[in-house]
Amino acid sequence: MTETFTGNFTQQTPIPEAAQQAALRVMQSGRLHRYNLVGAEPGEAGLLEQEYAAWQGARFCLAVASGGTALALALRAVGVQSGEAVLTNAFTLAPVPGAVAAVGACPVFVEVTEDLVIDLDDLAAKIGQARVLLLSHMRGHLCDMDRLMRICDAAGVTVIEDCAHTMGARWNGVRSGQHGRVACFSTQTYKHMNSGEGGLLTSADAALMARATILSGAYMFFDRHPAGPSRDAYPDNPAEIPNMSCRMDHLRAALLRPQLATLDDNCAAWTARYRRVEDGLRNTPGLTLISRPEAEAYVGSSIQFRLPDWPPEAIAAVLSRCKTRGVELKWFGAPQPTGFTSRYEHWRYADPAPQPATNRILAGLLDMRLPLTFSLDDCSLIARIIRDEVTAAQTIARPHFEPTAP
Ligand SMILES: *Cc1c(COP(=O)(O)O)cnc(C)c1O
Repeated sequence: MTETFTGNFTQQTPIPEAAQQAALRVMQSGRLHRYNLVGAEPGEAGLLEQEYAAWQGARFCLAVASGGTALALALRAVGVQSGEAVLTNAFTLAPVPGAVAAVGACPVFVEVTEDLVIDLDDLAAKIGQARVLLLSHMRGHLCDMDRLMRICDAAGVTVIEDCAHTMGARWNGVRSGQHGRVACFSTQTYKHMNSGEGGLLTSADAALMARATILSGAYMFFDRHPAGPSRDAYPDNPAEIPNMSCRMDHLRAALLRPQLATLDDNCAAWTARYRRVEDGLRNTPGLTLISRPEAEAYVGSSIQFRLPDWPPEAIAAVLSRCKTRGVELKWFGAPQPTGFTSRYEHWRYADPAPQPATNRILAGLLDMRLPLTFSLDDCSLIARIIRDEVTAAQTIARPHFEPTAP
């Protein structure tokens, strides 16, 4: 019998009851705007910032409208100017080059390795081309952060970390986001906490955080940022910095605060699902898993694997056959952007230089979400389906392939 999977790859778990109640209280109060506070109360946004800073181990935190907004704020707050080059990895999501473009700067792409992290040799070769690296930990893969920081520190390059997929991850025991000058997180529905849209920015740099806070639309309410720097970190004339009106409102902050309490458990649950799929795919002929270094404690909220050097029609066959059996894979090698998936060559506004190593890797790269609504048995079933269909499609990929008897 041919097995099929009936779960839904876009179905997240419900917002916890406590968060629903907190959101209701905010709505009943009618006070949703970040500075619509009574007396000295910190408000949901201020409390979220304090609690997230404590969880992350960051000195300061600012909650904003989206992860992409956090990236654009970070770029402006470190002083990126219009027309300036910003280094970033060639394998990332569209909001990353989008944030670079939003500040009028130009992304300069750096190759990625077969393990889907920035290629540190290519970074070392290109390091002289920019003052800032926007490092995207795309799909939760961490590079050797110690070596990366040595390269950037030696060249005086400022590191902004895009931690959209590494909230809760660690490199050598240090939380992702604690290596660079500033870190950006997303609380968009498909990330590790869910407020629909949302973002968090953390840093230990008081002057940088003061600029980011003014940019987010602080008006003259600096004293209303309990997780922000003290008044003396702010410039004498804050009105010299533009107001971009993008701090998070209390409603979304109320949704997020109770989710912090279950974040660590959720991260462990994602990783258990990841390992289940990974185990099921191990030793599938023609399929390469992504190796994960010992030093990396990752959060497996999605999984990637490669069908290296397969012809595009054979990969397309795997996709459509898996889809028929209920398993939705995303392919980074597709000629046209589809759904959320695009690659650097599609971002025409950035006028990207060709990255041949990245092209070869993305051509065979497949990706799949692992929502917590999937059970571990679901994950085993999904892996069996992929394994079957990859094996079946070998006849297109390698016409002389003979599957060995199990
Ligand atoms: C989701 C995501 C972002 C941006 O987050 P939004 O909150 O959707 O703007 C940035 N980088 C990566 C790698 C992402 O996946």
